[in-house]
Amino acid sequence: MLKCQNCGKEMAEKDALVHKDASNEKKIICQDCFKAATGIDYQTFAFRKESAKQTFFAVIFCLAATIYAFIEKGPVYGALGIVATILIYFFASKTK
Ligand SMILES: [Zn+2]
Repeated sequence: MLKCQNCGKEMAEKDALVHKDASNEKKIICQDCFKAATGIDYQTFAFRKESAKQTFFAVIFCLAATIYAFIEKGPVYGALGIVATILIYFFASKTK
C-alpha cells in the first residue's frame, strides 16, 4: 500500500500516480487528487493519451504508405495517400 502525498489516503500501488506539481516537484498522488489537480479524471486522461498514440501511429503508417505509393505508382497515388492521411487524422481526432 502507498499513501497519497497530497491527501494521505491509502491506495494500491497500481492506483498510484506520479504527478508534477506547479513547482515541478514529483509527488505520488491518488486518482482523486489527480482529478482535482488536472480537472480530468485519470481514466479520461489515459484514454486520451492512448487514442492520441493510436492516431499518431495511424498517421505515420499512412504517410509511409503515401511515400511508397508516390515512389512506386506516381504522384497521383501519392496525392490520394495524402488525402487519405488527412481524412484519417480528422476522423481520429473527431472520435475523441
Ligand atoms: Zn490524494
